[in-house]
Amino acid sequence: MNFKDYIRVIPDFPQPGIRFKDITTLLQDGAVYKQAIDELREMVKEKEIDVIAGPEARGFVVGAPLAYSLGVGFVPIRKSGKLPGETIEADYALEYGKDKLAMHKDAIKPGQKVLIADDLLATGGTIQTSIELIKRLGGDIVGAAFLIELSYLDGKDKLDGMDVVSLVKY
Ligand code: 5GP
Repeated sequence: MNFKDYIRVIPDFPQPGIRFKDITTLLQDGAVYKQAIDELREMVKEKEIDVIAGPEARGFVVGAPLAYSLGVGFVPIRKSGKLPGETIEADYALEYGKDKLAMHKDAIKPGQKVLIADDLLATGGTIQTSIELIKRLGGDIVGAAFLIELSYLDGKDKLDGMDVVSLVKY
């Protein structure tokens, strides 16, 4: 399946110069969404994974069905102020703008094997911050899975040789 046929590219969103890869057009087709998650599962199923961590909001759309299909837990990484329990936080910079990400202090137990999942790897800032939070909780990161990788932004270089899988590259 050519997933690119189902990803809509929107110029100048959310600001001039950004060519936004809109995955809502992929998600709204049940067969294509299922195929995407199934293919990602095949790419990571040999890894030892205890839990999948995904940053809001599109990381949930990829990470949660992947976790369900592997039969492992899912842990949300959220913007500051959204999680109800005790949290740890870290700053992050996006391809556009910046913010803080947070995780519950008890979301990951020391030594647990964690796969990170998100819709898209751009500059790698979101994943770098996710890695920092997971490491502070004592998690052992086994890799990262994305629907889309923007290879021209070299986000992978920030991920310290971590095993990265993706379905589509631009
Ligand atoms: P990074 O932190 O790697 O620069 O940016 C990746 C994060 O920003 C992801 O969480 C992703 O959801 C969001 N993002 C940045 N650019 C795009 C885009 O073109 N399309 C989509 N769907 N998400 C994007």
